[in-house]
Amino acid sequence: MRDVVIIGGGLSGLSAARELQRLNIPYRLIEVKKRLGGSITSASTDGFVLDGGAFSFQRGDDWAFLDELNLQHALVPVVDSHHRDLVAFSGGTQMLVDALAKDLTGTFIHRMAISSLGTLDGKFTLCLENGLMWDAAAIIVAAPARHAERMFRTLAPDFSYRLLNYGYDTITRVSLGYKQGDMPIPPMFPWDVAIPFYSWTDSPQRVPPGHVLLNLGVRMLPKGVKPDALVQEIHRQIKAQGKPVISRVDFWEDADPLPPHLPNFTEKTTALEGLLPAGVALAGSDYHGLSLAARVAAGKRAAQQIGAYLKS
Ligand SMILES: Cc1cc2nc3c(=O)[nH]c(=O)nc-3n(C[C@H](O)[C@H](O)[C@H](O)COP(=O)(O)OP(=O)(O)OC[C@H]3O[C@@H](n4cnc5c(N)ncnc54)[C@H](O)[C@@H]3O)c2cc1C
Repeated sequence: MRDVVIIGGGLSGLSAARELQRLNIPYRLIEVKKRLGGSITSASTDGFVLDGGAFSFQRGDDWAFLDELNLQHALVPVVDSHHRDLVAFSGGTQMLVDALAKDLTGTFIHRMAISSLGTLDGKFTLCLENGLMWDAAAIIVAAPARHAERMFRTLAPDFSYRLLNYGYDTITRVSLGYKQGDMPIPPMFPWDVAIPFYSWTDSPQRVPPGHVLLNLGVRMLPKGVKPDALVQEIHRQIKAQGKPVISRVDFWEDADPLPPHLPNFTEKTTALEGLLPAGVALAGSDYHGLSLAARVAAGKRAAQQIGAYLKS
């Protein structure tokens, strides 16, 4: 059987790959970066686990899928500026990516992008950025809308046109580790739309004993802003005492998709999907839901949709 190509190795692409594997459908996953995870990236330093992308999630999400991944005990509590009941992953959100990828046996191609999609002699074709061409039995696009727009210009021009000018907000993720007592709790920022949310934790899995970790989302244009200056400004605003013992700053220019916040988003996505040829499925944060669990479910659903297409 010709295989299914999954474009994108973030949470959605990996969830789709797991489901294809469960259905015994051969697949190939192509990811332009050298690492898997997309907008999820975590690192452990000096006893702190710092997330550079997605960090905290609603406790009330449907976390049943964690059981399959042996991550049922992976969530730790986080205190939130907006009093939401949030959790984070004890080993950073990357532990979810690693668990999703762990048992995958399909082919993975890194550091190569798909530039366009088409059909030839009744087969799907994919053009790679190095000029090579693949064919495929079906395609799962798990790449953000801003990239999908270009890919689909030939295969589904109406679909591509609707993705044009898909909007995003920037997010700068800032993590600051403090000695307990140095950071006021709760940290109070002067009201400022530049810092729409922040949360903190002293969970022993995320910080060394006697410390606390503050994680913020900052909205600002990345150009020209030096990470050190940003850290100093936040430190000044919360009136912290000692210096942070650790800090991490990650700029994401196209981070927060805007359409999912608009009314009728689900209906609009369904209409969009109706513009795609059978055998092409969408998965990803730009098309399905705002919660992490919704994105995992959407990846799985895309694989099931392709499974049904291949059977038919
Ligand atoms: C800074 C930031 C903070 C966030 N914080 C939170 C949070 O606290 N809570 C929460 O619930 N959500 C948060 N999110 C959202 C969450 O991280 C994402 O919704 C989720 O990780 C998206 O996964 P995805 O697989 O759909 O997309 P992505 O993670 O964007 O993955 C898509 C992948 O496709 C690859 N790709 C793109 N184009 C091509 C191509 N042409 N060929 C091959 N590969 C390609 C990309 O390199 C990428 O790896 C945050 C997002 C960001 C950016």
